Amino acid sequence: MQHSEQGRARRQRFQERLHVQHDSALHQRLKQHLPAAFNQRWTRRHWMHATLFTTIGALLATIVPGFSNAIDAPLVTHSTLALPLPPLPAGNAQAVPGSNWELTRIKPGQTLSGVFDDLGIPSATLARVLDHPGTREVLTRLRPGAELAFDMAQPGELRALRFDRDGSHRVELLLNGDTVREKVTERATTVRTVVTSGEITSSLYAAARKAGLPASAVATMTDDIFKYDIDFDKDLQPGDRFSVVMDETWREGERIDTSKILAATFTTGGKTYTGFRFERGGKPAEYFDITGRPLKKSFIRMPVTYTRISSTFGMRKHPVLGTIRGHKGIDYAAPTGTPIMAAGDAQVKFVGTQRGYGNVIILDHGKGYSTLYGHMSRFGKVRAGQRISQGTVIGYVGMTGLATGPHLHYEFRVNGQQRNPASVTMPPPTPLGGAELVAFRAQTAPAMARIEGMEKLIYADADTKPAQGKGKGKG
Ligand SMILES: [Zn+2]
Repeated sequence: MQHSEQGRARRQRFQERLHVQHDSALHQRLKQHLPAAFNQRWTRRHWMHATLFTTIGALLATIVPGFSNAIDAPLVTHSTLALPLPPLPAGNAQAVPGSNWELTRIKPGQTLSGVFDDLGIPSATLARVLDHPGTREVLTRLRPGAELAFDMAQPGELRALRFDRDGSHRVELLLNGDTVREKVTERATTVRTVVTSGEITSSLYAAARKAGLPASAVATMTDDIFKYDIDFDKDLQPGDRFSVVMDETWREGERIDTSKILAATFTTGGKTYTGFRFERGGKPAEYFDITGRPLKKSFIRMPVTYTRISSTFGMRKHPVLGTIRGHKGIDYAAPTGTPIMAAGDAQVKFVGTQRGYGNVIILDHGKGYSTLYGHMSRFGKVRAGQRISQGTVIGYVGMTGLATGPHLHYEFRVNGQQRNPASVTMPPPTPLGGAELVAFRAQTAPAMARIEGMEKLIYADADTKPAQGKGKGKG
């Protein structure tokens, strides 16, 4: 939740920023125009000045239209898949002879009883439908655009109702007198693996759109895969490029899920970052670089979005007790209720109250590392003994125990000794090894080959390698 908010804000900022393609002719013109600014990090004003040229840059974008080929299936393009959404099939094998189906699509602002009213179906029938187990939850939460199909025996007399219970199940309710019978059928989905690539000219989002990469996939790339290595607010430059191998889930001609990125590369500042999705030991999928090192760091440096650091690590006069003693953690001032995240994957060691700390949680990260979170107003849904992953909300900022204002007291302990969370060397994440590494290599090699093959094809005549001029190190 925390992350997606940050992600959203970040994405918004992208939209506002403009980049211009690193094309040599364009380069010259821009250089005349903006002599001092070129080759330096541009301010937003510079980008705005360059808007005119951006249009030209966009025309030169090196995306091969419609190029996206399946990794393990015949060549496909998005255009061939963009079938119109077929209506709910009116007649199937089980259809009652003489059925008379009518399809309705929920309009914005339309209520369920409104739909029934329009068809002249009495409210008693609606009540009967809603009383059928599992129906109310679905039908009272229909979004605009959702489809309902009515089989009317005669005007006002509902014989059957068909709707989609979820992404993979279609329900048909058969009404006969007072009885309601239910028939559930699977909605077929297919998964296609596609490769796509884009080069940044105006913004990451524009490039993604051109490459047929939906916002959810961009979010996976920026928030899950590369966030530890690339600062998407600052690092992006025109000419940066990305390639993605992803699974697309299609249902009835509609692309319904594109968030599963199997592999991605991002080239920025002359450096190419890689990320490969891999599952190990029954854990949720993680991303690794090409050598099998996890992209995720073992610990996030700050487990809360704070307003200011109200007390650093070290000696200080205690704000409540007035005595001089060592402060064994960092205090992050933040409004009461601000979510606190687990700094790393952990087993919950303690949830409860301790003198001074108030409501406190201690997490055991293994290998002698533990973290402590004090003064919470309340706990998240965690209990002692539970295994949780990094970023899990474990509680909320408060001022229980000895505290003068709402803040998180955060301790980072190595073998029981408190260390300064701001400066302690975090342990590197454990890379894949043994059989896992073998499996990882077998899985990633074809994906990487596809990406490389595609980039060669697309960027073959792109003159500039990102090395000179615009290259810059990570900030
Ligand atoms: Zn403190």
